[in-house]
Amino acid sequence: MGRLFVISGSSGVGKGTVINEFLKKHPDFKLSVSCTTRKPREGETDGHNYFFITREEFIKHIEAGEFLEWAEFSGNMYGTLRTYVEKKLSEGKNIILEIDTQGALKVKKVMPDATLIFILPPSLEELEARLRGRHTETEEAIQKRLGSIKMEIENSKHFDKQIVNDSIENAVSELEKICL
Ligand code: 5GP
Repeated sequence: MGRLFVISGSSGVGKGTVINEFLKKHPDFKLSVSCTTRKPREGETDGHNYFFITREEFIKHIEAGEFLEWAEFSGNMYGTLRTYVEKKLSEGKNIILEIDTQGALKVKKVMPDATLIFILPPSLEELEARLRGRHTETEEAIQKRLGSIKMEIENSKHFDKQIVNDSIENAVSELEKICL
């Protein structure tokens, strides 16, 4: 059996980069592919980044109880298929789920052997500076994000492990200590 790791962290924290660097070094780990109703972004492909499905299909999966967990963010639905994860684990693959903290806590209830890992920014001030540095969002959007970041940090108190992303190298090596 493979092992299951759930990694959460607020947007802007660099969690995607940390996970990608880790995956490059450890091909026996695989990132789980979630279902979503959002449209693919430039360069995203079906079955690789997500399974892009319609709202109707998504609702059918919910009704059939096929999601380990699911959530809705800004009008789009995201969910992890239970069969997908169980199949990969039974094939002996180590699986990483990259989902939000509420989803992570739901997974832990159903699969208590899962290890929940939260990636923290070195400081909230620094994260705020990074979000502003992107120059892509309005002040209102930034305030909203900061609010949900604080909520995520609160939820992460129930996680098994916390990693501070002060540098990518350090964060990857902390992740290795937990996962290898
Ligand atoms: P994006 O649209 O930027 O790819 O993802 C938006 C958010 O959805 C991210 O915070 C991501 O972690 C979360 N997400 C992606 N897949 C899932 C999933 O299967 N379940 C949950 N709960 N969140 C997900």
